[in-house]
Amino acid sequence: MKLVFATHNKNKFKEVSALLSSKFELLSLTDIKCFDEIPETGTTLQENAKLKTDFVKKNFNLDCFSDDTGLLVDALNGEPGVYSARYAGEDKSDEANITKLLASLELNPNRNAHFKTVVSLNINNQQYYFKGIVEGVITTKKSGSKGFGYDPIFIPNGYNKTFAELALSVKNSISHRGQAIAKLVEFLNTSSYTNN
Ligand code: IMP
Repeated sequence: MKLVFATHNKNKFKEVSALLSSKFELLSLTDIKCFDEIPETGTTLQENAKLKTDFVKKNFNLDCFSDDTGLLVDALNGEPGVYSARYAGEDKSDEANITKLLASLELNPNRNAHFKTVVSLNINNQQYYFKGIVEGVITTKKSGSKGFGYDPIFIPNGYNKTFAELALSVKNSISHRGQAIAKLVEFLNTSSYTNN
């Protein structure tokens, strides 16, 4: 079954590919020759996720899903949240985002934070949402080289390594996106959708 994952992020595509059964032929935005930067002008993760699936549906008429993720830090009143990608500026630099976040927290002892993902699925012109959250703490310095984004400074609760130090399979089994995608996959597996 053909399904578009509306992302340009190769790391995310790889993560999600590992979670989907072979029943799905997963296509990226590049695969469908969509080279646009889809505007993420919403004020919530759900709005931004929907903007991406709406764009693919409108311009390519393909069933698709997308995700939008935010890192919500307790001591920063939930920032950077929906603005996580652009926290340190429009060039969306992971390095600059991490530097800014560590500086914002500096010596603050409250390091609690969570990642939240909202997945939007637009299939047969029906709209669905799936959510996932992982709680953890922000470290005081970067550790690890796997993953992407804020992974080097986030330790999920129950572990003593950052997401960037954990194997991808471990991250996927507990992560915000892993949980949201697992709900999406369960939904798709138990539904009778076919589009080819
Ligand atoms: P997006 O909305 O999913 O593209 O992500 C928003 C921001 O959160 C970007 O800066 C990403 O790098 C970051 N991000 C998303 N997912 C993860 C993750 O699994 N680990 C670390 N950072 C992430």
